[in-house]
Amino acid sequence: MQHTADVQPLPLRELMPALILGAFLVLMIYLVQFDQGAISQTGVFLHELMHDGRHLLGVPCH
Ligand SMILES: [Zn+2]
Repeated sequence: MQHTADVQPLPLRELMPALILGAFLVLMIYLVQFDQGAISQTGVFLHELMHDGRHLLGVPCH
């Protein structure tokens, strides 16, 4: 028996919510863990704002 699956490429329109969510999560992970004011230009504000999250995730902090 020959299996002929009719595979269609996923339209970008349907892929977009997943891409936006992924980009958002990457941005949040970056801001919580690595930024430290380097790009956001908030100085220690973001660092202090997300301080508990940093320690919860075991990110090197102080
Ligand atoms: Zn800390």
